[in-house]
Amino acid sequence: MTNEQQPGKAPVDQAWQLDTALTHLGRESSVAVNSVNPPVVRASTTVFQTLAEFKDSYKGVVFESPRYGRSGTSTNFELQAAMAGICGAQTCIATPSGLSAIAAVLGAHAQVGGQILVQEGVYGPTQALCDKVLTPLQCNIDYFDSVDSLKSKLTERASLVFIEVPSSLTMRMIDVAAVCGFAASKGIPVACDSTWGTPVFFNAHALGIAISIHAATKYINGHSDVMLGLITGSYEALQSTRAWCDRNGTHVSADSYALALRGMRTLALRMHRHHASAIAVASWLQEQPQIKQVLFPALASDPGHALWKRQFTGAPGPFTVELASCSEPAFERFINGLQLFGLGTSWGGFESLVMPAIAHHLRALPVQPNEGRLVRLHIGLEAPQDLCDDLWAALAHIGA
Ligand SMILES: *Cc1c(COP(=O)(O)O)cnc(C)c1O
Repeated sequence: MTNEQQPGKAPVDQAWQLDTALTHLGRESSVAVNSVNPPVVRASTTVFQTLAEFKDSYKGVVFESPRYGRSGTSTNFELQAAMAGICGAQTCIATPSGLSAIAAVLGAHAQVGGQILVQEGVYGPTQALCDKVLTPLQCNIDYFDSVDSLKSKLTERASLVFIEVPSSLTMRMIDVAAVCGFAASKGIPVACDSTWGTPVFFNAHALGIAISIHAATKYINGHSDVMLGLITGSYEALQSTRAWCDRNGTHVSADSYALALRGMRTLALRMHRHHASAIAVASWLQEQPQIKQVLFPALASDPGHALWKRQFTGAPGPFTVELASCSEPAFERFINGLQLFGLGTSWGGFESLVMPAIAHHLRALPVQPNEGRLVRLHIGLEAPQDLCDDLWAALAHIGA
């Protein structure tokens, strides 16, 4: 066995549609064992028969010396190649979680006295990383909430623009092509947390995003049993992030790759079902008297609907629900009354989840005592009617 010359390389000749690519990419090494799935190669060391082979394994890889020697086995490269292939990207890097992927991209671009522009409303831990790690290291973090505010805040010290579509919890859309167009005119790459849309519904690179980040922990694995981050882009766009991962020892075990690769086979199927069920449940919720509003760009009533339609081909959820005025005890009865929705963080698995949420931007606003209670719902693969029945029974605890 030899190291792949360029880790996570996508096959070059690639005219397949997504469903076919999801079925057939990432299986090259299965030939070695005559199986459908590639073997799970657990190894901290790859051995070579000859010195020439060993030297050859480094050919074509642009790594600074000294290089950390353990970037993975064939199992890792299979998943990276498959992911790069379905994203229409040259290459893919994997990290031990979605957050570590975000940390790698931000860390690779942070400079003392430099500037990183971050969209308001990004995933809470992303914001915490910016405020609690990067800001104290004297990298300036400037938050923006629109293309105009990005334009007014970007300085010549900027090294990265970071966005997330839609923003976590608040579910706001931003015009990705406009962000990318402006950033490109200044020569600044745009990184995007693309977890929500997945490559099935969101073609990040086609919209101009240089670095697309996925918490594969969520839909890509899809079975709530793996933590993994995936980053896609061109070799050039990912060069500094790959070096950062190499220097920081940010690599992933073969088992996580193998499970995620297995989960990924059914990604498109699952996403279409999540989409249909999320829209059915969200539309039903909108009609209920205990609900003030549903924040979900796939609904025509959502202010981000037009942008969603332009940028996405589907909407899996999760989405956010604002309850009508309700007391804390009533809120507790509602949450505790749910049978099919597990109470937990994370999402993207086959099962439905509920999480009480506080939109950070709402904290700054004066709110009435019983107003503004939010819940985030992830609609799993259960029958939507059963989910609506469950929600209906739990909402009855609040009263109309
Ligand atoms: C969950 C999530 C992450 C973090 O992923 P982990 O694998 O749990 O670290 C990043 N971004 C978004 C939008 C998420 O929802």
